[in-house]
Amino acid sequence: RQQLIEEDARSPALTADGKEISIGANVSTLAELPQVERYGCQEIGLLRTELLFMDRLSMPNAQEQYLAYRTIADAVSPHPVTIRLFDFGADKVMEEENLEEANPALGHRGVRLGLERPHLLLPQLRAIARLSQTHPVRMLVPMVNQVEELDMLADLYDQATADLPMEQKRVKPELGVMIETPASVMNIDALAARLDFISIGTNDLTQYLYAADRNDPTLSKLYTPVSPAMVRALAWVCSRAKARGMSITLCGEMASDIKALPLLVGLGIDGLSMVPTQRPVIKGALSALSVSRCQKLLQRALQSQTTRELTSILNSL
Ligand code: PEP
Ligand code: MG
Repeated sequence: RQQLIEEDARSPALTADGKEISIGANVSTLAELPQVERYGCQEIGLLRTELLFMDRLSMPNAQEQYLAYRTIADAVSPHPVTIRLFDFGADKVMEEENLEEANPALGHRGVRLGLERPHLLLPQLRAIARLSQTHPVRMLVPMVNQVEELDMLADLYDQATADLPMEQKRVKPELGVMIETPASVMNIDALAARLDFISIGTNDLTQYLYAADRNDPTLSKLYTPVSPAMVRALAWVCSRAKARGMSITLCGEMASDIKALPLLVGLGIDGLSMVPTQRPVIKGALSALSVSRCQKLLQRALQSQTTRELTSILNSL
């Protein structure tokens, strides 16, 4: 069985009518790298860097980060690695930064924390800039709401790379943001105009769209990634990003939810990123779906009034 998985893993993931949807890997530790290849993920669609260094007592410097990112990039070379900037805060606690907040999910987390405390971000930007000279790197910014944050980040990037030679400064990583707050959904046009790609973070987007803690099981009735409000939010983001010819990835848990898959195909998502072990199952399910049927299904889904109605539409496929 293992051999079958490995043989099948080498071919691309296609819909029944031949559209390729890349299935990348979500990675948080070096120990996960062997699975990336075993299950056929060519690229790393989400590297959660805040978890990569979780077991350390102090923050890694630029050189230490560079070496870790290079090991990971080498493992998928020549395919790209999407390195997400530190997304500390909320559920990803960072002891030494001493964030005592009444409401951490709405507090200092993701890029806002990095912009407030440049000592966190500068070594990381430098490490990423260095790796981009030799490897295809996509730099992904978490918890962005609006373009002001991209301006501030660009200033920090310039600072982090100020002493690099001119020819190295010209080679930059591709730039993308996580679409995971309602403001980023509503600001998609302005953001997309400045970006190379977007990656939709449905875990946080569900939490913030419904104002329902993603880690509180007693709120699970409200925490509904596959629901009318989410489908409408995703359809808005995808249609605006597509209008600009932008590549769209989805890297939240929804990427490996079989019942959501026809919606994701209908939305025109180009890439999914997930725990590598999920790839064979999603690849198999994809091969039974046709783009045109999924697009029709999406149109019906957009008319649904309740989650229950949406579920029955999805079950009818
Ligand atoms: C998300 O929010 O959907 C996501 C992929 O990021 P994380 O789960 O790390 O917050
Ligand atoms: Mg998130």
